[in-house]
Amino acid sequence: KITLFWFRRDLRLDDNMGLYYAHQQEKQVLPLFIFDTEILDRLDDRRDARVTFIHQQVSRLREELAAYHSSLLVRHGKPLDVFRSLTKEYRIQNVYTNRDYEPYAKKRDAEVADYLQKEGIDFYDFKDQVIFEKDEITTDKGDFYKVFTPYSKRWLQKFEEAKITSVKLDGRKKSLFETKPLPLPKLSDIGFEASEISLPRPEVDHKLIRNYDQTRNFPAKSGTSRLGIHLRFGTISIRKLAQEAASLNDTFLTELIWREFYMMILYHNPQVVDQAFKPAYDRIRWRNNEKDFSSWCEGKTGYPLVDAGMRELNATGYMHNRVRMVTASFLTKHLLIDWRWGEAYFAKKLLDYELSSNNGGWQWAAGTGTDAQPYFRIFNPASQLEKFDKDLRYVKHWVPEYGTDRYPKPIVDHKMARERALAVFKEALDK
Ligand code: FAD
Repeated sequence: KITLFWFRRDLRLDDNMGLYYAHQQEKQVLPLFIFDTEILDRLDDRRDARVTFIHQQVSRLREELAAYHSSLLVRHGKPLDVFRSLTKEYRIQNVYTNRDYEPYAKKRDAEVADYLQKEGIDFYDFKDQVIFEKDEITTDKGDFYKVFTPYSKRWLQKFEEAKITSVKLDGRKKSLFETKPLPLPKLSDIGFEASEISLPRPEVDHKLIRNYDQTRNFPAKSGTSRLGIHLRFGTISIRKLAQEAASLNDTFLTELIWREFYMMILYHNPQVVDQAFKPAYDRIRWRNNEKDFSSWCEGKTGYPLVDAGMRELNATGYMHNRVRMVTASFLTKHLLIDWRWGEAYFAKKLLDYELSSNNGGWQWAAGTGTDAQPYFRIFNPASQLEKFDKDLRYVKHWVPEYGTDRYPKPIVDHKMARERALAVFKEALDK
C-alpha cells in the first residue's frame, strides 16, 4: 500500500510540512496534483496567467521529483471524482496534505476525507501556509481578534516565543514512490492557453526588504517584494520568509501578519465572502452605475493615479498596494459602486489573488470591514498623487496621454462625490 501526498497551494519540495511528514512514515509516497475543474471552470479567461503559472510549477515539481526517482501524478477533474478513481487504480493506505482555509477548500477537503474514510483510508492534514492558523492567536479569554493591532501584538509575542523551524526532505531516505516519469497534461489538455504576462521569480531580495519601510509606498519604485503569487501558491515557504523578515525589516513582517490576520478573519467569518464584516454596512444604497464601472475598469476615470493603477493591473496582473487602496476607495466612495464588484474584478486580474486578503482589502477601503477607523476616511486621489507619485513617474508610465487633450475629464467631481458618499453612508448607518 502507498501514501498519496496531495499538493494544492504548496507547490514546493523544500520545507513542505505535509510532504515532510508523509515522507517520514513507512509507506512509499506518491505525490499528486489535481487540476481542479471546480476552480478552473469558474475562470473566464482561457489565458489566465495563474493557470500558466501553476502549470509551470507543476512541471518543475515533476522534474525535481525525478531526481528522487519518482514523479508527480497529475489529474484533471473534480477532486472527489479523482479520488474515486485513484482508489481503484492504487492500493492507498493514507492521504497527506496541507491545510487550506478558504470556504471552498474546507468543503472539498471534508468531502474527500469523508469518502476516503469510508474506503478505510486515513486523511491527514498539516499547517503549512501560515505561521499561526485559525485559533492559535486569540485573546486571553480565547476569543478571536476582530481588530488588527492587538492581533499583531499577540502574533509577534507568540512568534518570538515559538521556535519556528523549517524541514528538509531527506534525500537518502528512499520512500518516494519509484516510477518512471508520469505524463504531464499540456495546458491545452486542460482547456487553457499560455499567458504572455511575465511572472515574478520566487527570489527574496534582502536589500529591498531591508529598505522596505522607506520605499514601499511609492508605486514608481520597485520597493515591494512581488512575492504575493509565491505566497499564494506556496512556491516559497512562509516559515523561511517570516524568519528572514524578522531579521531584516519589521514593517515587512507586519505585512505578513496582515496576510494571516485576514485568513483568520475569513476562517471565523466565512460570511464576509458576500457580506459586510460590519452588517449595518449592507444597508448602503450603492449607485452601481455600469458606465462608471467600465470607466474604472478601463482606467478612464480622469483621475490619473486611479487610471494608472487600473491600467497596470490590466496589463500586468499586478497593482501596487498604495494604488490598490486608492482605486478601491475611489470605486466605493467616489463612484458609490458596491465593493463586491471591485473585489470580483481584482479577483479575475490579480496574479497574487488571495480571497482573504482581497476581501479584507476591499472591505477596508469601503469602510465595511475590520478597520477601527470609521467610514469617513475618503482618500483624495489628487493628494495621494501629490504624496506618492509627486514627479508623475508612475502616472506617465501607465497613462502616457496624461496632460494632453486625449486624456478624459474627471467622470465625477471630487468634492461632490465626497459629500455624496458621506451622506449615503450616514443614511445607511442611521437607520
Ligand atoms: P509586499 O508589500 O512585498 O508584501 C509582502 C507580502 O505580504 C505580500 O505578498 C502579501 O502576501 C502580504 N501582504 C502585504 N500587504 C498585505 C495586506 N494589506 N493584506 C494582506 N497581506 C498583505 N494581497 C494579496 O496577497 N492578494 C490579494 O488579492 C490582495 N488584494 C488586495 C485588494 C485591495 C483592495 C487592497 C487594498 C490590498 C490587497 N492585497 C492583496 C494586499 C496588498 O496590496 C498585496 O499583498 C501587495 O500589494 C502585493 O505585492 P507584494 O507581493 O509586492 O507585497
